[in-house]
Amino acid sequence: PGIFGAVNYRFSTVAQPSSRPGSSLRVPNLIGGRFVDSHSSDSIDVINPATQEVVSQVPLTTKEEFTSAVSAAKEAFPSWRSTPITTRQRVMLKLQELIRKNMDKLALSITTEQGKTLKDAQGDVFRGLEVVEHACGMATLQMGEYVSNVSNGIDTYSIREPLGVCAGICPFNFPAMIPLWMVPVAVTCGNTFVLKPSEKDPGASMILAELAMEAGLPDGVLNIVHGTNDTVNAICDDEDIRAVSFVGSNTAGMHIYSRASASGKRVQSNMGAKNHGVVLPDANIDATLNALVAAGFGAAGQRCMALSTVVFVGDSKFWEDKIVERAKALKVSAGTDPEADLGPVISKQAKERVCRLVQSGVESGARLLLDGRNIKVPGYEQGNFVGPTILADVTADMECYKEEIFGPVLICMQADSLDEAINIVNRNKYGNGAAIFTSSGIAARKFQTEIEAGQVGINVPIPVPLPFFSFTGSKSSFAGDLNFYGKAGVQFYTQIKTVTQQWKDLPGGVSLAMPTSQ
Ligand code: NAD
Repeated sequence: PGIFGAVNYRFSTVAQPSSRPGSSLRVPNLIGGRFVDSHSSDSIDVINPATQEVVSQVPLTTKEEFTSAVSAAKEAFPSWRSTPITTRQRVMLKLQELIRKNMDKLALSITTEQGKTLKDAQGDVFRGLEVVEHACGMATLQMGEYVSNVSNGIDTYSIREPLGVCAGICPFNFPAMIPLWMVPVAVTCGNTFVLKPSEKDPGASMILAELAMEAGLPDGVLNIVHGTNDTVNAICDDEDIRAVSFVGSNTAGMHIYSRASASGKRVQSNMGAKNHGVVLPDANIDATLNALVAAGFGAAGQRCMALSTVVFVGDSKFWEDKIVERAKALKVSAGTDPEADLGPVISKQAKERVCRLVQSGVESGARLLLDGRNIKVPGYEQGNFVGPTILADVTADMECYKEEIFGPVLICMQADSLDEAINIVNRNKYGNGAAIFTSSGIAARKFQTEIEAGQVGINVPIPVPLPFFSFTGSKSSFAGDLNFYGKAGVQFYTQIKTVTQQWKDLPGGVSLAMPTSQ
């Protein structure tokens, strides 16, 4: 019975915020299977970045409400963990079907709150859907190991068991994909979950939760609490939460990593990035330029795997002008405009930050080949638009290089050799992704071997692995031991119990010596 009968609030064009509990704009929490309005009178407006209309309001969940969400998850755990794995898989099987059916609704929610184009929003949902599909095979993924007759008549086997209550804290840039990196893996392993969506775009999480319940996820297995720092700190400190998954900026990620670890939790923390594309002169020009433009400006540069820096090696530097031509041809508009290639950035503050970093590049000597800062989008004059922007002659000491810009800004650098290009990439503190464009297998292999980045593309600009692998950012882009989804994701959300059994006539006599295998 769609709580998003309240869907009309979701896409409301009424810009009269009222932060009172009970307001039709308020996004409910999900506690113990019920969508409930928070009693808090504090909330944050969710703003459509193309229009500035208030889409909804996110309450700052109270401490008591947070505690009841964790209690609901804790209560649901014993029966969920003993629910047969095949039944848990079937919930995912149904969920993937429901996500497909609701693809347009999810994409519209994402575009309305986050700004990306509808087509890109569908991709956001689809990449999350693939994790749900993968979780349908959890019985195989979660298998333990068995060694028979480790000693006379004695066998040892290991079982992967769920941890208990796990929690997830999400960023704004992939409102569907990131919650779906977490929840399907965690709950199909038998855990229960408390999710804190980004306060900037909670809509997709709410729809997904409703679908998960329709798919048969029992009450309390997935709970949602809204809020910002206080809710996050409550997650880090809570004694009943066993593991925390975080995706977002380094400031928040490192804080969460240390605070949650300090209270004994497992943490996986995916953070910021500065991904480089290294272009060799022997690369296929057309395909490479298309890849660079798509990966630099797609989603208005707000992807953690956006290719925000190009290192042109040798004569490939003459391709700069060709990138400018292609970037100029992109259409910037509201994500709902079917012609749009890129939409707005998430907020006025984000736009200001992007413009400030571009300006700092100019002031430190970079050449501004294309300036999208003053773009006007007809019909959407209030939107946070930044058009494609290209800075050339950037050097490693510039602030625009050192900081993650997270906007539609492509930074161009130059190197005389592949070795020099690899050095540039390796000196950067981040290690999410790096790509090489070349027709030389020898160069590609050298790059793959020597590059210090967790995800490498060879003529592939955004090498985000599918769910049977894991998302393997490294260096400052990741903190923790076990990555998101894939085998590592299953390991993160499970702990191993090792059983040694003896079914034979038990030995007589007492021996106090350390047992050894014989
Ligand atoms: P953010 O860190 O501002 O917010 C992420 C979450 O942390 C939100 O839920 C927010 O409420 C919470 N938060 C923010 N500041 C906090 C603080 N001081 N204390 C406690 N909680 C806090 O990130 P964002 O702007 O939403 O997302 C963009 C960032 O996420 C970029 O840096 C991007 O590279 C990164 N990202 C990384 C990956 C990856 O897999 N490596 C994927 C997507 C996004």
